[in-house]
Amino acid sequence: MEDVRQCQECGKLFVYREKPLCHACLSALDEMFLKVRDYIYDHEHAEVAEISRETQVPLKTIQRFLKEERLSLTTAGDLVRCEVCGKPIACGRFCEGCKEVFKSAFTEKPKHAATHAPAADAGRNKGAMHVKYGDK
Ligand SMILES: [Zn+2]
Ligand SMILES: [Zn+2]
Repeated sequence: MEDVRQCQECGKLFVYREKPLCHACLSALDEMFLKVRDYIYDHEHAEVAEISRETQVPLKTIQRFLKEERLSLTTAGDLVRCEVCGKPIACGRFCEGCKEVFKSAFTEKPKHAATHAPAADAGRNKGAMHVKYGDK
């Protein structure tokens, strides 16, 4: 059974393979990615607005590459912000400071861990029904 989904970009139905985009959008995205990457390669300190203008790649798409960490831009300005504290970052979703906080939060044992006790069903004693009444 093929997994048919709607493309996040153009809305067309396509057979899902790893990414939520159809083949046409994926290759268009790849093409844009290469353009942006090459431009940054040649113009290391280019502003995002300039990159977008020169490569014809929408800012939103460049922002996507940054969030996916396919690209890293020191000149990204506030195009990408930390999802926790809102600090402008070069790429990804969180700033270094918040990443550190996550790390220590994960290594530290949670003090108020919710204990998901197994359902109370186990307490029901089904065995009690096996009482013999004796044959008549
Ligand atoms: Zn598409
Ligand atoms: Zn942060």
